[in-house]
Amino acid sequence: MASYFSAVETDDLLALIFVLFLIACVRLEFRRPFLRPGLKMLKKSYASNIFTYLFNDITLSLLSIPSLYFIAQQFSGYGLLSSLEDGPLKYLITFLMLDLTMYVWHYTTHHIDALWVFHKVHHSDKTLNVTTGLRFHIGELFMEVLVRVAFIGIWGVAPDVILVSQTLITLFVLFHHTNVTFPGEKYLAKILIVPQLHRVHHSVLRVEHDSNYGAVFSFWDRFFGTLNTQEPTAIGLNGVDERYLETLYKTVLSMGVVKQVREFLTVNKQA
Ligand SMILES: [Zn+2]
Repeated sequence: MASYFSAVETDDLLALIFVLFLIACVRLEFRRPFLRPGLKMLKKSYASNIFTYLFNDITLSLLSIPSLYFIAQQFSGYGLLSSLEDGPLKYLITFLMLDLTMYVWHYTTHHIDALWVFHKVHHSDKTLNVTTGLRFHIGELFMEVLVRVAFIGIWGVAPDVILVSQTLITLFVLFHHTNVTFPGEKYLAKILIVPQLHRVHHSVLRVEHDSNYGAVFSFWDRFFGTLNTQEPTAIGLNGVDERYLETLYKTVLSMGVVKQVREFLTVNKQA
């Protein structure tokens, strides 16, 4: 019982940190914006992305998807780090390897067509702001959970460590989507993925957006030769509808209608 309450408290604390960080990034991008999109376009992006986030979060929770991490714990006894004692070294290795895994996963979503179908929802935002970091297809989020489940088994780490590490990575994702520029950004870019580096990742041109896949550290991109320091030609994706939730809703609705028509026809045929 005690561990249940501590797990709930940890979840609440992580959620609070996430919301406070999001508010700080919003304030920052209004104070020191780099790009200056129209207010109407920006409002549309904020509304669409926040609704997408809430829809995804509630749906995944209702389906108990996060509990998969705790099921994966049963298989963590044989993982690569399972014999290493819990402590700063194990947490640091876990964080680094999870960031590398997310780099590889992100690269894959750009290079396998079946995954790009999901990931392009994230790239279809015609503006770039902190809420773009909340905009993902629910299918992509589900697959990411499966990647982290496999990570728990392969590396032999506790789900709590993954949840904390992933929250930290998510804060970096919010930060690098923030529409901001600040002194010293160029130097910080030598180690971290800063907004200046991530902007080109949202270019309309494939030759530009197939770069800078990192979430936290920029050295993965430097090491694998995918780093690009230029500014994007333009933000978004040409020929891709940015109204993700509306399209999803209409698809689900039309599937429901098709199902009802089929049932109606079957029942009438039998009669
Ligand atoms: Zn991407």
